[in-house]
Amino acid sequence: MAAMIRLHNTLSGRVEEFVPIESGSVKLYTCGPTVYDFPHIGNWRSYVFEDLLKRLFLYRGFRVLHVMNITDVDDKTIRGANAKGVGLDEYTQPFIEAFARDRDVLAILPADVYPRATAHIEEMVGLIETLLEKDFAYRKDGSIYFAIDKFPAYGRLSKINREDLRPGSHSDADEYAKESVHDFALWKAPKEGEPVWETRIGPGRPGWHIECSAMSSKYLGRTFDIHCGGVDNIFPHHENEIAQSEAANGVKFVNYWVHGHHLVVDGEKMSKSKGNFYTLTDILARGYDPLDVRYLLVATHYRKMLNFTFEALDQARTARRRIGNFLGELRAAAQDGPSDPAVVRMVDEARAGFVAGLEDDLNISEALAAVFTLIKSAYPLLQCGGISGPDALTIASFFAEVDEVVAVKPAPLPREQLEAEILNKIEARQKARADRDFKRADGIRDELLEAGIVLEDTKDGVRWKKAGPPKS
Ligand SMILES: [Zn+2]
Repeated sequence: MAAMIRLHNTLSGRVEEFVPIESGSVKLYTCGPTVYDFPHIGNWRSYVFEDLLKRLFLYRGFRVLHVMNITDVDDKTIRGANAKGVGLDEYTQPFIEAFARDRDVLAILPADVYPRATAHIEEMVGLIETLLEKDFAYRKDGSIYFAIDKFPAYGRLSKINREDLRPGSHSDADEYAKESVHDFALWKAPKEGEPVWETRIGPGRPGWHIECSAMSSKYLGRTFDIHCGGVDNIFPHHENEIAQSEAANGVKFVNYWVHGHHLVVDGEKMSKSKGNFYTLTDILARGYDPLDVRYLLVATHYRKMLNFTFEALDQARTARRRIGNFLGELRAAAQDGPSDPAVVRMVDEARAGFVAGLEDDLNISEALAAVFTLIKSAYPLLQCGGISGPDALTIASFFAEVDEVVAVKPAPLPREQLEAEILNKIEARQKARADRDFKRADGIRDELLEAGIVLEDTKDGVRWKKAGPPKS
């Protein structure tokens, strides 16, 4: 099957067929962490969706050159360093390390390059010089601003009404609302308590947006294939990146803009004051496997709002274990015998469904449905007389392929742990029944059923057994 990947392009507002600039290769830029704090679960959602996209390309035979910036100088990092009374480097280093650690724990493939803003001041200065020469930028009180009215395409990505533009009004803030669209700072004049670089365009420090324009072009070229980020990056960050790069270089900056949607917690926007703000460490402290977290993040389509709840995380854990348990049983059931063409066909169908789903703008629900359908169809074979070694291998290798992309390493629960957990649940169900809380009792029974465990109430007490082929 030749790859035909379709992606939603924010620029056109449509799902488009992906056509690479250079056949068989993808140049990908994803906005990286601003290292002023530990990333929260919403940040990880973006990074995990970008990882799914990248892994799909790799799985479909593309070469991927992936660049992710590290924002180690901006309003927030400077504020944080000053509050703590330390230098910028000292302040950001632990967050850079924590980012790499959590990334590995979540099985996110590392980018090829992690350029740091503070190491690319020279490139940013060069770009700003070009913008000054071409008259897209102007100086004011030691700072340099981008004149948005000089760039007619301004607002195309975020669909800003050009009549709302207020050319000439400007601000030094890195982040601002769509309602106050204005000329933005490329270079900020020296200020008390801020780091200063002495450069050809004068002393000062870069604005936030210029770093991504300068560093993406350095590593990926002036025009590259895909730029990703969260929807909150669309304005002003990505809009400004386009303006800077296209004004300076005179060529299209990026062919496909792909944005991941927000994550909310219990239906509400995450905030430290509401107490619903989670880092990965907070969640793992509750005993979850990081790959359960990854499963949850990966299993909702990237353009849908993801509502993070611990209930949803439990369900993700159950789903991941269902795959793991199936693979464990598959291994145990394999025996001598010839290959059955029906099994090969079943796996081919599952693969086709998995690939078709992902190639359709990362439709993960469809892709995973193909995987679970295969599990349902294969269970009867495991139970009625086993499955031949070659067929078990065919199925297992397909699951290995799936995991190249989804990367949740489904592992069955160890037998003792599984039994202990089932017995705990049975006990909780008995207690609920004694309290006449039948809703809860039934809920526990259904939960076990989801995990492939059937309860039987006998006169000698409750017994459990592995479910037969799950009903569809
Ligand atoms: Zn960026």
